Amino acid sequence: MKPDSYRPNNSRSSSYWTDTAPAFAQGAAGAPPETADVVVIGGGFTGLAAARRLAADGARVVVLEAGRVAQAASGRNGGQCNNGLAHDFGAMAATRGMDVAKAYYADFDKAVTSVERIVREERIDCDFLRGGKLKLAAKPEHVAKLEASAALLRKEIDPDVEFLDRAATQAEVASDVFHAAILFPRSASLHVGRFGTGLADAAVRRGASVFENAFVSGLDSLGGTRYRVTSTRGVVTADRVLIATGASERGPFSWFRRRIVPIGSFIITTAPLPDAVLRRVLPRQRTCTTTRLVGNFFRTTPDNRLVFGGRARFARPGPKDDVKSGVVLRRTMATMFPSLADVDIEYCWGGVVDMTQDRLPHAGLHDGLYFATGFSGHGTQMSVHLGEAMAGFMTGKSHDVVWNRDRWPAIAGHYGKPWFLPAVGAWYRLKDAIS
Ligand SMILES: Cc1cc2nc3c(=O)[nH]c(=O)nc-3n(C[C@H](O)[C@H](O)[C@H](O)COP(=O)(O)OP(=O)(O)OC[C@H]3O[C@@H](n4cnc5c(N)ncnc54)[C@H](O)[C@@H]3O)c2cc1C
Repeated sequence: MKPDSYRPNNSRSSSYWTDTAPAFAQGAAGAPPETADVVVIGGGFTGLAAARRLAADGARVVVLEAGRVAQAASGRNGGQCNNGLAHDFGAMAATRGMDVAKAYYADFDKAVTSVERIVREERIDCDFLRGGKLKLAAKPEHVAKLEASAALLRKEIDPDVEFLDRAATQAEVASDVFHAAILFPRSASLHVGRFGTGLADAAVRRGASVFENAFVSGLDSLGGTRYRVTSTRGVVTADRVLIATGASERGPFSWFRRRIVPIGSFIITTAPLPDAVLRRVLPRQRTCTTTRLVGNFFRTTPDNRLVFGGRARFARPGPKDDVKSGVVLRRTMATMFPSLADVDIEYCWGGVVDMTQDRLPHAGLHDGLYFATGFSGHGTQMSVHLGEAMAGFMTGKSHDVVWNRDRWPAIAGHYGKPWFLPAVGAWYRLKDAIS
């Protein structure tokens, strides 16, 4: 089948990860208790990691999740658990200072280690693999920048990174379209569906009560950090509340909504491919990202699929737009890997990224509410790490939270509905074309 005639209607619209993971079966029954030490709002990786840590430390924890646990961004992502910043390290050092750039970089290293530790401690069967990440130069003009970036990283913070020239890159990714790469060997990949269920099970095992289908509609301050939390499953009064709601567009979170832009991101996943085909295309089980602003990310799975994603169309996820974006992704995949032009696509789905203006996560305390959000497409590892870090911060056991040092102003003109997205998309595409 030719890529342009491809209609992914026959593919499943659910995420490959959640579709191939055991369901979480330990959701609490009945109404939540009237009081708790901590209410965590949101049962994605951030909320579940925080709940697990808090419960292990002896707190009475209630998780209120509007839908099912780990089925929003946490169950719909690319399964890349990368170290390194989304930003160019040199540019970050130039704007924020070398110490801050190093602290941010080091925290992403720690975040990958946090995921690895939890997988080990809780014996979560989720194919965690430190296979390394390739950041691929999508244009010849990007090569010199990547080379300089690799040299700076090696000198300042990460002696393990390697610059790969075109020949070395093609030995890693059999595609004509990439001109060079940086290899980040500490990066990892995992099956995020199995990890999500395992993390939720672990939180319950440690003593947290997890209420699914508990949409939070009201937050009433009782002074300090005490709040009355109203949900569709009942009302809980808590000494502390953690907002872990990602890109949530529903519920009483208007302060956060002015700071977070919900952006659609889309993924297709092939049917299992013959060993020989996959080994020829991507022989080393790395995670891959490209240098374009509207770029792509891809990786393989242990059952020989290619998971291939990108922002594709700056559209909102939904049945129609997932399909249209799937067509764009399929075409891009075929351009990168012509030998995959005719393979079957078994899954095609979209999800919402919680993007911030500075493309960095934010955490801390606002108006008596603790929060950790804004992972900007780099949260598989950081949501877990920051969830745990916020648990320590809330109980006073640790203050090792790197992401609560900056002011977090509202985005000018953003009142919750991202009316400006088409213009941002056009601007990014123009920048990709000229840089
Ligand atoms: C398509 C896609 C690809 C991505 N790929 C990668 C990747 O490869 N690597 C990477 O590092 N990151 C990736 N990310 C980002 C990563 O998935 C997220 O940063 C991370 O999962 C965020 O976790 P979270 O728990 O903060 O948010 P979520 O997983 O979104 O969880 C928030 C939860 O809050 C709940 N909620 C919202 N409102 C309410 C309410 N009113 N009441 C109760 N509950 C509520 C939601 O139902 C949801 O379950 C990707 C994201 C997407 C969408």
